[in-house]
Amino acid sequence: MAPHPTLAVLGGGQLGRMLGLAAIPLGVRCRFLDPSPTAGASAVGVLTVGALDDVAAVSATIAGADALTFEWEGVPATSLLPAIDAGIPVAPGVQALRTSQDRGVEKQQFKALGIDTAPYWLIETRSEFDAALRELAGPGILKTCRGGYDGKGQARIANAAQANAAWQQLDGVPLILEGLVAFDRELSVLACRGRDGTTVVWPVTENEHRDGILHTSIVTPATVSDAMQARAHHIAARLMDALEYVGVIAIELFQVGDTLIANEFAPRVHNSGHWTIEGSATSQFENHVRAVLGMPLGSTELRNSVVMFNAIGSLPDRDAVLAVPGAHFHSYDKVPLSGRKVGHITVVDPSTETLQTLRDLLQ
Ligand code: AMP
Repeated sequence: MAPHPTLAVLGGGQLGRMLGLAAIPLGVRCRFLDPSPTAGASAVGVLTVGALDDVAAVSATIAGADALTFEWEGVPATSLLPAIDAGIPVAPGVQALRTSQDRGVEKQQFKALGIDTAPYWLIETRSEFDAALRELAGPGILKTCRGGYDGKGQARIANAAQANAAWQQLDGVPLILEGLVAFDRELSVLACRGRDGTTVVWPVTENEHRDGILHTSIVTPATVSDAMQARAHHIAARLMDALEYVGVIAIELFQVGDTLIANEFAPRVHNSGHWTIEGSATSQFENHVRAVLGMPLGSTELRNSVVMFNAIGSLPDRDAVLAVPGAHFHSYDKVPLSGRKVGHITVVDPSTETLQTLRDLLQ
């Protein structure tokens, strides 16, 4: 490998920006493709402005690159093919990307590996929907198989009127009806697999969502039993081995008693792993760069308990955050918009007062 390898990245949002930032000390030069000329990753690499399915723009981004990766699972799988044809390593691979892009295929993949999921039905017609509702006989969530994120493209159903409304809202594309899981809490497990199959896993993260958007991630291993950690690690390892996966994966899980139910996975670095920048010996971003370029992976050891708050819609006052002991400020350099993730704050080993101060600043 060259001392200064080039990593091509499809997408140049905040995840690309943090990947680029982690790549710099490794001597890795990043190139990003993004439709926006103001994409946040332009601060940490060379930006090509173009659509993610624009063949010429993809070719310009990957020309002479040592590896190709992506920071968004909405990237068209066909945009990975020119790199594969050119012999450039692509990680994660096409199979992982395609599986994650369709909730039905994703659930079938979990099931095939013996990983528990919510009960689900794949639906294309109203009569299939009605039959599934009868079988479910309880509350559910109707979701589009493709394209939904942050709670978009889905509707909850607890009665016949809501079923009708959900159908009217979402009909027209392949859908999946899931039984509503009465979970104790939402967790995610992040792991990274290298080209040689070596796998490292970060401690399980507990996540709180508001209005379908991740709001807070908490990592306090004392609250996740060793057995639960092992179960989550096992799920990640099984999925990554099956997909011959390379890079960071995030699997969203529901905890119900002692069981873990897989909701979905993201074939990329993930919002619920932002805490690893300050909270872990090696961040998810650095390990992803290492993995996709075939470098040895770093330790995922937890430095301390960590809490990450997303800044949604607007950033809190920077100086006020920096005045809080142990707090780290991350701006994505994005135009503030309601519901948009524009930054995050991580705090290591916080006291209860520190957490309250940050919550107040983020109001
Ligand atoms: P998703 O887009 O699948 O990540 O769903 C967004 C959020 O909706 C999840 O983080 C959960 O809070 C909730 N959710 C999704 N699917 C289910 C389910 N089958 N049962 C209970 N809650 C769910």
